[in-house]
Amino acid sequence: MLENTHSPAQAAHWLFMARALFFLLHGLGVALFSYIVAKRLAPLLRAARDFRFDRPFSRLARTLQFWLGQWKHPRYKTAGFIHILIFAGFLVLAVRTFSVLILGLSPDFAVPLLSGRPAHLYDIATDYAATIVFLCMVVAAIRRLVFKPARYAVPARYGKGHVADAIFLLALIAMLMAGDSFFAAAQTASRVQQGLAAEPLAILSLAWIFKNTLLATTSLTMLTRLRLSACVGHEAVFYFLMCYRPFGIQFHVITSLFNVYFAKLDRETLKPVRWGVADDRLGEVKSFGVKKFEDFTWKHLLDFYSCADCGRCSDNCPANSVGRPLSPRFVTTKARDYSFQRNPVFSRPNNGAVSDSSLLGGIYSEDEIWSCTTCGACEEECPLLVEYIDKIVDLRRGMIDEGNVPQSLQKPLKALESRGNPYGKMEKKRVDWTKVEEFRQSYDVKTLKGENGAETLYFVDSITSYDDRMQSIARATARILHHAGENFGILGAAERDSGHEVRRFGEETLFMALRDHNTDAIKATGVQRIVTNDPHAFNALKHDYKDVPPVEHISQVIARAVRSGKLALKQVENGQNTYTYHDPCYLGRHNGVYDDPREVLDAIPGLKRVEMSRSRDRSFCCGGGGLMLFYEPKEDQRMGQVRVKMASEAGANVIVTACPFCLVNIEDGIKVAGLEGKMTAIDLAELVDQQTVDAKTTPLLS
Ligand code: SF4
Ligand code: SF4
Repeated sequence: MLENTHSPAQAAHWLFMARALFFLLHGLGVALFSYIVAKRLAPLLRAARDFRFDRPFSRLARTLQFWLGQWKHPRYKTAGFIHILIFAGFLVLAVRTFSVLILGLSPDFAVPLLSGRPAHLYDIATDYAATIVFLCMVVAAIRRLVFKPARYAVPARYGKGHVADAIFLLALIAMLMAGDSFFAAAQTASRVQQGLAAEPLAILSLAWIFKNTLLATTSLTMLTRLRLSACVGHEAVFYFLMCYRPFGIQFHVITSLFNVYFAKLDRETLKPVRWGVADDRLGEVKSFGVKKFEDFTWKHLLDFYSCADCGRCSDNCPANSVGRPLSPRFVTTKARDYSFQRNPVFSRPNNGAVSDSSLLGGIYSEDEIWSCTTCGACEEECPLLVEYIDKIVDLRRGMIDEGNVPQSLQKPLKALESRGNPYGKMEKKRVDWTKVEEFRQSYDVKTLKGENGAETLYFVDSITSYDDRMQSIARATARILHHAGENFGILGAAERDSGHEVRRFGEETLFMALRDHNTDAIKATGVQRIVTNDPHAFNALKHDYKDVPPVEHISQVIARAVRSGKLALKQVENGQNTYTYHDPCYLGRHNGVYDDPREVLDAIPGLKRVEMSRSRDRSFCCGGGGLMLFYEPKEDQRMGQVRVKMASEAGANVIVTACPFCLVNIEDGIKVAGLEGKMTAIDLAELVDQQTVDAKTTPLLS
């Protein structure tokens, strides 16, 4: 590459011992970088276990999709586009960056397999890549300084803003790109001035502009000096940047590949209390959950280091939107800063100054941890697949283990323990919804006892069994199953709460008791499948339980019945209504059931449906199910109220949902928003029940 020219090393004889300088730079750079990264990663070795080495092909596929393919970035169009350009630019430039580093030591170095035409094409690509990345840095700096997207802001309660740090890093990367281009320009200009053959630089690239400027203004001697300076400058900035990255948000450039590879594969499940400890040995575990920093798993610590501070998680977090004291971005950045403070790079670990007790009640408040609805919006959005729900549940497990249960939750948890439901009602009252006279005259819902009573179990769960308003959903579900020709029954008094929220509130032992009771009761019936109208029960039975028959949500059963013609739907009576569908988090985001409910709605003749601005995997949580109904964190407004406003803005006056908890929160939101009489909410099962034609007709869905 430098044949017949003054290489940086050759030209340095009059300046200083070039090779010695480059060797020193490399040696210092690599040693310092290795030391810093080793210090940063040391806490991971002391952290709790985490099993992330299974299914390498699935992990590799996800790495190709989410890391190399930058899959989630386009969800934010402008920032996503800029990030993809920068990422692609870095990938293209990686080879040239390392070749420039090696050129200082070995002037004749050429990248293996890269010579002749491919080398020239690669040089053109790198000229453009460096230019594009440079321009992206300029645009990103303008966005930060002028347009100031709200999601980058740091509210005062979370500490200082990060703008200065971000601008400094953008400037460093811009310098690296300019240095790279300047080196290529000086080298080409030098060859041209000597009358040697030189490959043309990419037209209008930074390197091309620099080269033309240099040719017009600079002598050969000066060019040699500039080329050497560019090479040294490039190396100095490169190593400075590498060593600076582990001190802040830019650490993600180094850790993101590993974070994505080791990301959780089964997002809908919760992590066990302790990896490697089976349920029947949990009694041997001395301490549950996360109480001190090292109780987090090594992967969760890697998450903290991998956050790019982009704010997408918090931008989509409903708790943050309504002013609860929770913003997932800061759950991560506070922990990262805490870890950095406890494990300084250039001095001994600082355990005394930052005591263990400062994790809860220190960097996190209890309210913050209880404010999460486990809706999953943050995890859905994060381009680096940072996990939140497991961490929050682990922190709750730690609090519960210490006996630190919020006052308002103590009664429902006790009731769940003694009666199997959070209301403290008697077990036999679980079947009260079947006893409404009008319903009982037409429908006989079997309570399953012993095997072969029915093929299908309708798992009702607590709220639909006991809440007077929600019992209407149970009756609608039973009528639909009847019309769809299902041979079904219920567990009745033998059913207990599914325990879904109990588990997510950190009460693992109580959850296990409920799960085991239900599993035995379900197995005793010999049913082949389970249907439920409650997405929380659906998620628990599908993912938290083991050894139970396959489970479906009623919306899936309805869609199939309509498709096959078993269920016929009639024209809506009031054609003036506009409907919108609210995706329950545990049906949509956690289980990917988005289409079936919409398919059913669209199959109702005359029904006009609109989408809210936030729908499907960006659905906005209603306020949370299960025990969230018993816990009221500080907030500026209710999530249900915000959701109702979104429906109103979309032009809807009927909100359809497919979850009893969503219905409670949305109906409450309608009242709080003062929209009673203008807006209504209805469960999908109730709506379908109203619209069902008894006689079988041709299929309505294709
Ligand atoms: S799970 Fe939902 S409520 Fe909890 S932090 Fe994430 S987005 Fe916020
Ligand atoms: S956790 Fe993910 S989405 Fe949230 S700020 Fe960090 S990188 Fe962005």
